[in-house]
Amino acid sequence: MQGRTTFLLITTLIISLFLCVVLAQHQDEPQLVTIRYAPITIVIHGGTIVTHDLEFKGTVVIKDGKIVNVLHDDQSYDHILKQEEKEDRQVRLIDASNRYVMPGGIDPHVHLALKFMGTISKDDFYHGTRAALAGGTTMIMDFAIPAKGETYLDIVNEYKRRGEKLACADYSFHVGITGFNENTAQQMKELVENHGINSFKFFMAYKGVFQVNDEELYNGFKTAMSIGAISQVHAENGDLVVKGQTRLFNEFNITGPEGHPQSRPSNVEAEAVRRASEIAYSVGNAPLYIVHVMSKEAMEEVAHAKAKGYRIVGEPIAAGLSLDDSVYYKGSWMDRARFVMSPPIRGIEDQKALIAGLKNRILDLTGTDHCTFDSEQKKMGLGDFRKIPNGVNGLEDRMSVLFDKLVASGELSPSDFVRVTSTEAAQIFNIYPQKGAIQVGSDADIIILNPNATRIISAKTHHQNIDYNVYEGRQVTGVVEVTISNGKVVWENGQLNVEAGSGRFIPNKPFGKMFRGLQREQETKAPIKV
Ligand SMILES: [Zn+2]
Repeated sequence: MQGRTTFLLITTLIISLFLCVVLAQHQDEPQLVTIRYAPITIVIHGGTIVTHDLEFKGTVVIKDGKIVNVLHDDQSYDHILKQEEKEDRQVRLIDASNRYVMPGGIDPHVHLALKFMGTISKDDFYHGTRAALAGGTTMIMDFAIPAKGETYLDIVNEYKRRGEKLACADYSFHVGITGFNENTAQQMKELVENHGINSFKFFMAYKGVFQVNDEELYNGFKTAMSIGAISQVHAENGDLVVKGQTRLFNEFNITGPEGHPQSRPSNVEAEAVRRASEIAYSVGNAPLYIVHVMSKEAMEEVAHAKAKGYRIVGEPIAAGLSLDDSVYYKGSWMDRARFVMSPPIRGIEDQKALIAGLKNRILDLTGTDHCTFDSEQKKMGLGDFRKIPNGVNGLEDRMSVLFDKLVASGELSPSDFVRVTSTEAAQIFNIYPQKGAIQVGSDADIIILNPNATRIISAKTHHQNIDYNVYEGRQVTGVVEVTISNGKVVWENGQLNVEAGSGRFIPNKPFGKMFRGLQREQETKAPIKV
């Protein structure tokens, strides 16, 4: 009898312990809710509709997640209201007077819950996409990068599962290629043909982790080109980075965050851009996308390649376009460590050059490289700048920071702003005009931006899952007042109304804009046989 009681007690204990663990695990997770569109028609009227090529006063009508009508100002929308009434649908009128009605932002460069430098970045698919929507970005593109032992297909499936469960906004993926062997080409082909991938990223830095050599780049670019996929590079000479770090640390005894930018100066970045572009050209003018162009010198290599007819695009990021390297030299250790990212934030002259480059189409589109580590995680590099987790925030604030820096300053027009924050990404990754457009049939991912309103960026009010913000205290002109994602108002009056799992995976089709004419070009430039 005694034994039976003890057995029951132990069993109960084990079961309750198990339940505790399960409950504890679930407590932190957002509720999974199936999204159902209420039969509501949204009519946005009175605003200025801005697309990448036009600006006009008009009305946008949204139904069941799609844009169903775009009317110019001289056309009345009364007939739409009557029709909806007949069909027993509710109509929600949104007055956008004195505001811009724009396609939602697309951030082509984010890392959510990235396993990196011995830790995991803080914003996962839930927190990241939520923050994105609060700032007017309605689609993100993340990088699925396999850990040792994982296949490329494994990691893509894993990322899709995460998105399905947690994402509040639409998403797609680039795949990080961390080596090239006999199986790699087959896996890349499989991903393009059957899994909605049309871009592969190669790291020229992070030696011993992700870094690939020139031969691997050549083989990777060649494979990608043959299947209609874009090659992307993190352009920094990883060998020189390690040498620079060792020199600063050992010879100059520099251990703090200021060692980070000084160990990987602009020439280390520019050399890699040049090398990647020459390798891509040697392959047969393979489409090449340089992520996070941070310096004037690297941008000049992009310009140089463009001038030679290379199929290359350059992506500056919000941090590079709006911050400068003084952040590494003032304040406490933590104040400086928060800005550690690679390539590092450069000087004010670089910032001005990047803005000019974007204005004159030497650079093409903007991302953020959003990859957040909180203060506790940044402390991993106390005493050794090489161990500070690399990454800054940006996903939530990109639209405001860039509107302020580029449009409110008069450098770019509102249409250019739409192009560099949304349309160009949609076109390059071949999802236009489903995304990046205000057209009949496009997804209803729309923002209403007040160009005259201001706000002050702060960690106290942001939605990102970290305890600081690299734009803390900055006043920006240009505020996203309403965000509509897949036809649903998800952000208004400073309030979010999002559901985990409501975001969808958007497959990226191969042979997009960067491939136009390529086959013919290769035929005309084929080697001569005598
Ligand atoms: Zn990145």
